[in-house]
Amino acid sequence: MASTLTTVFIALLVITTLTRVWLGRRHVSHIQSNRTQVPQAFAGSISLDAHQKAADYSTAKTRLVVSESIAQAILLAILTIGGGLSWIDGAWRGLMAEHEIFRGALVILSAFLVSSLVELPFDYYKSFVVDQKFGFNKMTRSMFFSDMVKHAIVGLLLGAPLLFAALWLMQGSGEYWWLYLWVVWSVFNLLMLAIYPTFIAPLFNKFSPLTDQSLKSRIEALLTKCGFKSQGLFVMDGSTRSSHGNAYFTGFGSSKRVVFFDTLLDRLDANEIEAVLAHELGHFKHHHVIKRIILMFVISFLGLALLGWLKQQGWFYEGLGVTQASDYMALLLFLLVSPVFLFLLRPLLASYSRKNEFEADEYAARNADAKYLVEALVKLYRDNASTLTPDPLHSAFYDSHPPASTRISRLARFTG
Ligand SMILES: [Zn+2]
Repeated sequence: MASTLTTVFIALLVITTLTRVWLGRRHVSHIQSNRTQVPQAFAGSISLDAHQKAADYSTAKTRLVVSESIAQAILLAILTIGGGLSWIDGAWRGLMAEHEIFRGALVILSAFLVSSLVELPFDYYKSFVVDQKFGFNKMTRSMFFSDMVKHAIVGLLLGAPLLFAALWLMQGSGEYWWLYLWVVWSVFNLLMLAIYPTFIAPLFNKFSPLTDQSLKSRIEALLTKCGFKSQGLFVMDGSTRSSHGNAYFTGFGSSKRVVFFDTLLDRLDANEIEAVLAHELGHFKHHHVIKRIILMFVISFLGLALLGWLKQQGWFYEGLGVTQASDYMALLLFLLVSPVFLFLLRPLLASYSRKNEFEADEYAARNADAKYLVEALVKLYRDNASTLTPDPLHSAFYDSHPPASTRISRLARFTG
């Protein structure tokens, strides 16, 4: 059994990595072969210069993502079948023979530290080489590193209690530990959704109430018309880190708020902002957020039930290169290895998400003017240098949003 798992794991790791490389190469060559001409539908609204900038930016980002996925696959192989996790475990066992829960937490944190160290150069390169070159990076190096430290501290403060709870339940709560852990995990997630907008997001960005009175009253009229209650309209200083623009809803229940990136407000006019907001409202009206949360609960329930069973199988550890079985190793292996097994589900999730986007667009077309949503999309594509000519297969596999041309031609049905 152990050697079968090893073979399946290696085969899947190779297949997923080769798939990523292959899709990335297709994407780049599709973009480059369409680089010389702005697609017909955008000829009047996007210049050749902007189109070529988008092509080159998308190419650079895709190459970076592909290199990073190769590095991560190599790291995963080293940690598992290469014996890396066993080595880390052995080192901590040497320092701390007792206190299994505490040692387990240290082993898991060490493994995550190693993988974030591998990610770090890619993040750095993305901001200070790629985004810098295309004029999107607004971060200073000190901001980059202080964000990193803040993320680590917040992650530890929130994650450590959860990790201890998980290891404690695994050790002492009997056969159904995974069910109790699922309850804890679900409550934790709901709590995070509730406190994120008010307590966590402000650690990284400034949020100030929207002051433009005429825009505010238009937006409030739209919210009322759509029967939406929120805890206020906020502007986020997204421009301190990046010049990409966006708008989103955050929180749930009565803590919902509408957040606009300052970069978005600078670029879109009132009609376009209203249309973008109507699209976001469409996500709420169609319960996309709730459905997503429920889907996450179902997946984590199934995952934890599976882990409950795998934890007792010797071949699970042995097949993935771990010599000494323990609760924390089961948890760690599961966290690291399950994405490889789930990779092939990605196109399904992406297509589900694109279906949601169409629904939200339709809602926007009915409650605001589709013409302005098209205008806003074109501006956002242009200003974010998003490619208008993605490889169809790459897009089907990964993209949470439909390609611009598809969205716009659907919206065109609603414009008079
Ligand atoms: Zn959307």
